[in-house]
Amino acid sequence: MNKRDYNFSAGPAVLPEPVLAEVQRDLMALPGVGASILEISHRSKTFEDIIGQAESNLRQLLAIPDNYAVLMLQGGARLQFSMIPMNLMGGGRRTCDYLVTGSWSKYAAQEAVKFGETRVAWDGKPTNYDRLPTPGEWRLDPKAAYVYYASNETIQGVQFSTEPESGDVPLVCDASSDFLSRPVDVQKYGILYACAQKNAGPAGLTVIIIRKDLLERSSDRLPGYLNFQIHAEAQSLWNTAPTFPIYVLMLVTKWLIADVGGLAKMEAQNRAKAKLLYDVIDASGGFYAGHAQPSCRSMMNVSFRLPSDELTAQFLHGAEERSMTDLKGHRSVGGIRASIYNAMPVVGVERLRDFMLEFRENSDE
Ligand code: PMP
Repeated sequence: MNKRDYNFSAGPAVLPEPVLAEVQRDLMALPGVGASILEISHRSKTFEDIIGQAESNLRQLLAIPDNYAVLMLQGGARLQFSMIPMNLMGGGRRTCDYLVTGSWSKYAAQEAVKFGETRVAWDGKPTNYDRLPTPGEWRLDPKAAYVYYASNETIQGVQFSTEPESGDVPLVCDASSDFLSRPVDVQKYGILYACAQKNAGPAGLTVIIIRKDLLERSSDRLPGYLNFQIHAEAQSLWNTAPTFPIYVLMLVTKWLIADVGGLAKMEAQNRAKAKLLYDVIDASGGFYAGHAQPSCRSMMNVSFRLPSDELTAQFLHGAEERSMTDLKGHRSVGGIRASIYNAMPVVGVERLRDFMLEFRENSDE
């Protein structure tokens, strides 16, 4: 096997090694099938079993109730930025509320404007999205078609610890960068969705968990692919499903169940990994400055700055020399971003922690 680095990419991102090993082992032919996952029909019995298993693994991990449909579509999370307002503002509904807590919820709100009156119920821009609203800081419209938020802002590294309260208005959540990283109560959501390429699989797949009564809002006049109801009726096989990403999702969810032991265990690991890095930041006397305020820190994306661009460049270089890659922060925040999703092993984070300590010590001299 070629050497693997510790890959801190924000997405597409690190996948569990046992999953990659199984994909590699079975890539020439699935056991007993005589052809690979890349070559079989999405209507074959083999693939029906794979997509069925992926869905039942998700239902088991997240305790998804029967009154929710699970859709597996293409188009990435960004397609949902349009599909959600297009579908949910049906039936005479004209307004929606957005909590804008970072780049991704901002982009989502910019898309919703094309379909109806989009209210920004809270905007974190004045402090460059370094914090989240506290309950009561936002004002929601009780007649809104839905309330939208992103549970984890991948770029800024701010993460909600619990769902915002939306009363009777359906809550819509972009969980792209913290999906399957912790247990959540699906019943609190109208829609919970995530692109796969951070915690759940490769790029090319988005999972949408939608309360079935909301499907009635999808108008017949919508283009077929953009209609949630059509996909729900066809169980995500209205057109050719992204077969390979769904196969990998099935393996990742199997890994979460069988190897990790479920989402509560996954969360404990994720919390412990994030603490390793935040402890170094907090004890660094300001040498490492975290972007997010401590109460809203993300367990998935740890964003921090160093005192100068020169030191940042040296840090990135030193990390690469130690086989730690993709640590450069997003240009809108600068500095460093360590994405430590489910599949990042503890030893990878320990290695980064050790390098952060060493780098600071050497820079002080
Ligand atoms: N939402 C969040 C929170 C993201 O992190 C991303 C991608 N980084 C997106 C949406 C967009 O996803 P995609 O590229 O699959 O459209």
